Amino acid sequence: MPIYKAPLRDQQFVIHELLHAVEGLRAMPRYKELEADTVNQVIEEAGRFCEEVLLPINLSGDEEGCTLDPATHAVRTPAGFAAAFDAFRAAGWQGLATDEEFGGQALPQLLQIAFDEMRCATNQAWTMYSGLTLGAYECIAHNGSAEQKALYLPKLTTAEWTGTMCLTEPHCGTDLGLLRTKAVPQADGSYRITGSKIFISAGEHDMAGNIVHLVLARLPDAPSGTRGISLFIVPKFLPVGTDAAATAGKRNGVYCGGIEHKMGIHGNSTCQMVFEDAVGYLLGEPNKGLNAMFVMMNSARLGVGVQGLGLNEAAYQNAVAYARDRIQGRSLSGVKAPDKPADPIIVHPDVRRMLLTARAYAEGGRAFAYWIALMADQQLHHPDEEQRAFGGDMMALMTPIVKAFLTDNGFFRASECLQVFGGHGYIREWGMEQILRDSRINMIYEGTNTIQSLDLLGRKVLMDSGARLRKFGGLVQQFIAENGTHADMSEFITPLADLGDKVQKLTMEVGMKAMGNQDEAGAAAVDYLRVVGHLVFAYFWARMAQVALARIAADGAKVDPFYPAKLATARFYFQRLLPETAFHIRAARSGARNLTEFDAAWF
Ligand SMILES: Cc1cc2nc3c(=O)[nH]c(=O)nc-3n(C[C@H](O)[C@H](O)[C@H](O)COP(=O)(O)OP(=O)(O)OC[C@H]3O[C@@H](n4cnc5c(N)ncnc54)[C@H](O)[C@@H]3O)c2cc1C
Repeated sequence: MPIYKAPLRDQQFVIHELLHAVEGLRAMPRYKELEADTVNQVIEEAGRFCEEVLLPINLSGDEEGCTLDPATHAVRTPAGFAAAFDAFRAAGWQGLATDEEFGGQALPQLLQIAFDEMRCATNQAWTMYSGLTLGAYECIAHNGSAEQKALYLPKLTTAEWTGTMCLTEPHCGTDLGLLRTKAVPQADGSYRITGSKIFISAGEHDMAGNIVHLVLARLPDAPSGTRGISLFIVPKFLPVGTDAAATAGKRNGVYCGGIEHKMGIHGNSTCQMVFEDAVGYLLGEPNKGLNAMFVMMNSARLGVGVQGLGLNEAAYQNAVAYARDRIQGRSLSGVKAPDKPADPIIVHPDVRRMLLTARAYAEGGRAFAYWIALMADQQLHHPDEEQRAFGGDMMALMTPIVKAFLTDNGFFRASECLQVFGGHGYIREWGMEQILRDSRINMIYEGTNTIQSLDLLGRKVLMDSGARLRKFGGLVQQFIAENGTHADMSEFITPLADLGDKVQKLTMEVGMKAMGNQDEAGAAAVDYLRVVGHLVFAYFWARMAQVALARIAADGAKVDPFYPAKLATARFYFQRLLPETAFHIRAARSGARNLTEFDAAWF
């Protein structure tokens, strides 16, 4: 049975010692009363929920999966999923960070992200039902009319009703401009929606009284391509009432036509959804649906990145426990466990390499993701306009990096942690193969990681001539200026500064080439994202090293071993993981020709 313990110590380090989050959040009127104790208590309680409620139904949920009754179109989720959702709902967890006006607790995004990390670590499939509900909440909160907000937001806040996002169609995945689902206006102001969607997560299930589908469709006179897409609210049951007291009324013309049998996240229903003259309500403006949906997509992209982080941590914890316990061979530098017939495999350098790699990516990812959660709040709630703009710029720049860098790391670390188990990792009961399978989808949905890299390089960097990237560079420069003269920090500062210069040069070079041929951007993008992801990680690892060094200097021999461990992980990151950038810079600089001169017919 896989294990998991909420990483409370590291979470508290990141929140209080690295980011000084409570101080920063209290500068925003929405959080002026926030206390550090509240933050700690919420995270501890959330961790307990994940350990005690979600983890026990993760392996069984994977084995049982979801089942569809073709006669009724009803989908049954695995045993324990609905009961866990009831407990989650009763505790008010869904409304953790949503607005008080609609019944939420209005706590910072930071707490939501910390909870998301832990619940994805313990049960990603289950978490998605609630994650999509949160995305639907945000989308309606951002785009909805006063009436739509009054009706739907309280229901989504309590998770009495859940949400979905319906974009994908059989012939239309990445390229949403191809979508065909139709919306026909009715005399009463509603629309009739007809079409087929595929791969709809949480499209049908037995965990809530109603499902609120957010559906992209075309109006009859809509222009072709992405400019002719509108967004609609299509409830499974038509609501009766106008506010929190509304009930689920008549069945609407939307049903699940089939569920996918897939590689992982078996406990989440991935549905083919059929819309037959279903009643829908326009959300936002006609033909501006894709922009409106981007609110949900951006929130989901951050959520998916955090799924990668959670599984990275889960894989790490299980691999460490196994490596301490499993005895095979003797240490090359002499026997370490003379009382045993062999040493635990944790003595072997390469096993340590795999464990430290997973640890460094998990802890670096946590620092990065929690900082981004602060930027999300800063963007919306900071009283100072400049600070809000900075938060917005960081959100825009970093969203593709959170999504792609953390999910690539999640999958590849899951694979290495499985390797720590040898053949036992490949066997179901240890849970490692489930973590590996579950983590694979994170690189695909919400825009594949290739699409994220194109978004980063094209839209987020080149289109604004690197302005947002320079703003992040400003943070890096400031840190270097403040710490560059400390001898203890030079092993971190020197490579950080060096990578900062290289990113600048690489951006210029790729940008120049792309002006002549857009394929140059396409050919460089994935390597580019990996390099910039490392710049972000190097920045946070250097900052973590600095905090650790200060504590070691202050506490001397009495220092909590947490700090020397943090420092050693920082060294490992800089010496063993960061050098990956040399390869990616070289690959990115090699240009498009080695990809395009190969004739398509030669494949
Ligand atoms: C389990 C699961 C759950 C999902 N949940 C949802 C959901 O809830 N709602 C929803 O709407 N969708 C959902 N999806 C769909 C998912 O978002 C799409 O699968 C994804 O966006 C990719 O689309 P596609 O599968 O059609 O691949 P395609 O778009 O056909 O892409 C195939 C390959 O080509 C590459 N490619 C495509 N276009 C370009 C380009 N312009 N430049 C470079 N490379 C390109 C892609 O990166 C990919 O490698 C889900 C999918 C799965 C498997």
